[in-house]
Amino acid sequence: MKRGVLIVLSGPSGVGKGTVRKALFEEPDIDFTYSISMTTRSPRSGEIDGEDYFFVSREIFEQNIQDDNMLEYAEYVGNYYGTPKSFIDQTLASGHDVFLEIDVQGALQVKEKMPEGAYIFLTPPDLEALKARLVGRGTDAPDVIERRVGAATSEIRMMANYDYAVVNDEVALAVRRIKDIVKVERLRVNRV
Ligand code: 5GP
Repeated sequence: MKRGVLIVLSGPSGVGKGTVRKALFEEPDIDFTYSISMTTRSPRSGEIDGEDYFFVSREIFEQNIQDDNMLEYAEYVGNYYGTPKSFIDQTLASGHDVFLEIDVQGALQVKEKMPEGAYIFLTPPDLEALKARLVGRGTDAPDVIERRVGAATSEIRMMANYDYAVVNDEVALAVRRIKDIVKVERLRVNRV
C-alpha cells in the first residue's frame, strides 16, 4: 500500500488558518484526515476538546515531550502547541493523507523530519488585514495582538522555506487553491 501524503498548512497567527481549515473540511469531497493538536491554552467559547484541540495542562504536555510523543511543538504567546506523533505515523502508513494546521515554528520542525510533505504558507494580503482580523476576532487583549502582529512580520520572511504560498484574500478561493495543491501533490507522488 502507498503511504499517504502529508499536507501542512501554516502561516502567521491571525491569517485565518483555522477558518480556512474549517471551510476546507466542510467540503463534501475532502478525503484526508485532520491531525488534532494538543495545547495548554484554554478553550475559546464553542471549542470542543478532542475536536478543535486536545486541551491539556502544562504538566501533561511536558510529560508528552519527555516521552517523545510529539512530532513537533512550539511555545507561542505563553502556551504550548504540538502535534502528537503516533496518530500521523499510523494514518500515513494506512495510506490516508494527513492534514496539519500549525504555526511557522512547528511547520519548519516537521519539514526537517518529513521533507516529503507538501508545505503550504497561508499569507495575508497585507499586515493591516492581519491586524484587522485579530481585532475583529475579539479573543485577544491589545498587547497580545501587538505580539501576534510582531511575530507575523518575521514569520512572513519564512515563506521561502515552503513549497506553496496561498493568499487568504477570500476563504472560498483559498480553499479552492489548497484543494488544487493537494491534487498536484497526489500527481507528483504518483497517487492518482
Ligand atoms: P490559536 O491559539 O489561535 O488556536 O493558535 C495559535 C497558533 O498556534 C496558530 O498559529 C496555530 O496554527 C498554531 N498551532 C495550532 N496547533 C499547533 C501545533 O500542533 N503545533 C504548532 N507548532 N502550532 C500550532
